[in-house]
Amino acid sequence: MLTLIKNAEVMSPKPLGKKDVLLVGSSIHCIEDSIELSCNAIDIDIIEANDHYLVPGFIDSLVHVTGGGGEGGFTTRTPAVNLTDLTTAGITTFVAALGTDAITRTLPDLIAKVKALRAEGLSGYCYTGSYHLPATTLTDSITRDIMMIEEMIGVGEVAIADHRSSQPSTEELAKVAAAARVGGMLSAKAGIVSIHCGDGPLKLDRLHQVVETSDIPISQFYPTHINRSQALLDAGVTYAKAGGYIDLTTSTTEHALQQGEVKCSDALAYLIEQQVPLDKITFSSDGHASLPDFDGHGKLIQLLVGDERSLFQEVRDAVIEQNIALDTALSVITANPAQVLSLSNKGQIKQGLDADLVLLKKSTLDIDSVWAMGKKMVANQTAIVKGMFE
Ligand code: ZN
Repeated sequence: MLTLIKNAEVMSPKPLGKKDVLLVGSSIHCIEDSIELSCNAIDIDIIEANDHYLVPGFIDSLVHVTGGGGEGGFTTRTPAVNLTDLTTAGITTFVAALGTDAITRTLPDLIAKVKALRAEGLSGYCYTGSYHLPATTLTDSITRDIMMIEEMIGVGEVAIADHRSSQPSTEELAKVAAAARVGGMLSAKAGIVSIHCGDGPLKLDRLHQVVETSDIPISQFYPTHINRSQALLDAGVTYAKAGGYIDLTTSTTEHALQQGEVKCSDALAYLIEQQVPLDKITFSSDGHASLPDFDGHGKLIQLLVGDERSLFQEVRDAVIEQNIALDTALSVITANPAQVLSLSNKGQIKQGLDADLVLLKKSTLDIDSVWAMGKKMVANQTAIVKGMFE
C-alpha cells in the first residue's frame, strides 16, 4: 500500500514547510521537498494537498470506549463508541478506561473493545483499574496486568478529590503508583497513573503528598479534568511547574461552563500566560462519558454524552479564538500525549514513525482526510471505513 501526499504544509507538529510525504504500508517512509514515483505497475494513491496542513493523527488519552456514566441509574449508562466516532474526529490513537462503574463495566469487555477497534485500524490501549482502590485488575496485580496484557499501559482513571472516589489515602496512591511504575519499567511502557480529579477541596494535594513522602516521581501521575474549575486549574499551574503533567477535558456542556468549568481552549491560553511548560499540557476528550445537564433547580433535564470531536474543536478554537500558534495548539493532542504515554511511534510526522496522519483545510481548519497506520479512514470529510455495525 503506497500513499503519496504532495505539497502539504507539514506540521510535525513543528512546522516543516511544504513537503511531499510518502507512506509505505503502516509507516511514514520519507518526507522530501519533492517525491516523484515513476513505477506505474503498482497501485499508488496520490493526494494533491495544496492548501492543506498535514498534521499527526490525534492521540486521545481518555475515551470510555465501552461507554461510561450510569450515575443517574441504569438508564444513564452511555453507549459504546463506533469506529467513525474516533476517525472522523481525527483520532488515530486512544486510551480506554472504565470509570465510576467497575461492576457492570469490566476489564475483559474493555480489552475486547480495544482489540475490536485495533482490528478496524486504530491504535488502541487501555488502563487497568477504575475510579476505585483497591484497583480492579485482570490478573490480581496492577504490575502483572501492565506487564502481561499488551493493551494495558497504565492504571486509572483513579478518582481523587471526588465524592464518587474510594477516598484513597496518600499511602494507597503511592502503592498503586509503585505497582504501575514497576510494571511499566519491566515492559517498556509508560506505567502511568491516570487520575480523575473531582471538584473536592483537596484538589491535587494527595499527589503532592505522595511525591513528598515517597520515591515516586511526580511524572508518574497524569491528572485529568484540570479545567473543571478555575481553582483546580490554578492548582494545575503549581503542579505542572513542579514537573507534573496536566490534562484538560474538551467535552463539556453549557451548564458546566456556567458552573465555572473553564473552556479547554481558554484554559490553554491561561496556562501559556502563566508560563506553564507547554510539554506538560495535554487535552483528552473524555469521550462517551456521561455529561449530565441540570436545570436551575438541579433537576436532570438531559444527559449528554462526551464527544470525541471536541478534542480537535478545542485545538481549533485555541488557534482561531485565542491566537495560539497551530503547532503549539496541536502539540497538546499529538507530541505531548505521545511522550506522556511513552508511545514513541506516535505523535509526530517523522520518517519511520507510524503513518497516522490528518489533513486539515488551511482556510477553515476542518478535518479533510485521516489515515490510521497508513490506511485511509476519512476522505473529503466523509468516513470511508465503517465499523462492523455502522
Ligand atoms: Zn474522569
